[in-house]
Amino acid sequence: MAETFPEIRDAMRKLCAGFPGVYWRALDRERAYPGEFVRALTEAGFLSVLIPEEYGGSGLPLGAAAAILEEIHRSGGNGAACHAQMYTMGVVLKHGSADQKQAYLPRIAAGELRLQAFGVTEEAAGTDTTRIETSARRDGDRYIVNGRKLWISRAEHSDLMVLLARTAPRDEEKPSAGLSVFLVDLKSKGIEVRPVRTMLNHATTEIFLDGVEVPAENLIGTEGQGFRHILDGMNAERILIAAESLGDGRFFVERASEYAKSREVFGRPIGQNQGVQFPIARAYVQVEAAARMVEHALSLEAEGEAFGTEANLAKLVASEAAWFAADVCLQTHGGAGFAEDYDIERKFREARLYQTAPISTNLILSHVATQVLGLPKSF
Ligand SMILES: Cc1cc2nc3c(=O)[nH]c(=O)nc-3n(C[C@H](O)[C@H](O)[C@H](O)COP(=O)(O)OP(=O)(O)OC[C@H]3O[C@@H](n4cnc5c(N)ncnc54)[C@H](O)[C@@H]3O)c2cc1C
Repeated sequence: MAETFPEIRDAMRKLCAGFPGVYWRALDRERAYPGEFVRALTEAGFLSVLIPEEYGGSGLPLGAAAAILEEIHRSGGNGAACHAQMYTMGVVLKHGSADQKQAYLPRIAAGELRLQAFGVTEEAAGTDTTRIETSARRDGDRYIVNGRKLWISRAEHSDLMVLLARTAPRDEEKPSAGLSVFLVDLKSKGIEVRPVRTMLNHATTEIFLDGVEVPAENLIGTEGQGFRHILDGMNAERILIAAESLGDGRFFVERASEYAKSREVFGRPIGQNQGVQFPIARAYVQVEAAARMVEHALSLEAEGEAFGTEANLAKLVASEAAWFAADVCLQTHGGAGFAEDYDIERKFREARLYQTAPISTNLILSHVATQVLGLPKSF
């Protein structure tokens, strides 16, 4: 399959070569943010590719963002520190007013404003988003927000957060109604951000919102329609996460192949044994199959067709292909795979996330079972 966006990929490979495994390893140890890498991407214009030219971005299709993120992951790096800077602005672009677009998009494109926190998940609601309890109550020319969000990534490295909150009580008939989207200044009074240390370096946090005043002009789109407003963006995000998984899968297949050729045991390369070869070959096949599903989802999106189901399928298949490749790569490396210096154990931990976030595999299977195959709903 010919590579998409070859110039972008080439430029990304050059940029990523300046941020080798030793850079990511040191950050991982300290759970530190890759500020230098994010700055380099920002200055090169890679984080504003999806913003239209009239707002200072390069107005490229989603496939360009997918190519950028795939190359970061293929190089051994991780795009999670900044991927949301690319697409979180999508809700402003699609549903924001002309004034909001003018006020925020050029500054996001220039990298002056960081909009890379997406506040949806809450501990009690979990995957059942319609049960979130964070509320926004209208009071004159502002909303008063109270609640608690969990797993909100990059909040410490973002100026703004896209927040989903309840503006009307939950209606059993229409549970997704009554939710609204706001742009929240993370420096507002009443916001407390607490880092959550996880098995990977992901800058994720818990956010407490206590009487936070949000100007009414920061409501995005129509009050009560917030769930629908964020859905398109979530589907685009799933394709981009799938692209990151492809990059992970390719990293693992390439590293496993190199090691299997060079490591000699019993007087021959371990890769001469079919017991070592075949799993690597299978991992390659699975990653290539996933790549075609990502391409298919991207082509539907580019043509303006419905692409939600295909985005979910691509995300499921790519995240599982990456995880299989991760396991094969670790096994191929024997004990060396567990040593930090090879970057395999770090990437192994990082690749696992995408079967849980931003949507877990079971929820995708449930969508396929009920929406595609017409099986009875279980919830
Ligand atoms: C590192 C990290 C970063 C994250 N970043 C963000 C972020 O920036 N913004 C944000 O809003 N969220 C973020 N999340 C949250 C993430 O999207 C959720 O963790 C994920 O959607 C799963 O929700 P949950 O953790 O509440 O799991 P739960 O809903 O508690 O589910 C637990 C398990 O049960 C399964 N399950 C639940 N219900 C069913 C059912 N009916 N049928 C079958 N299986 C079911 C799920 O698939 C899952 O495997 C992040 C999470 C992590 C770990």
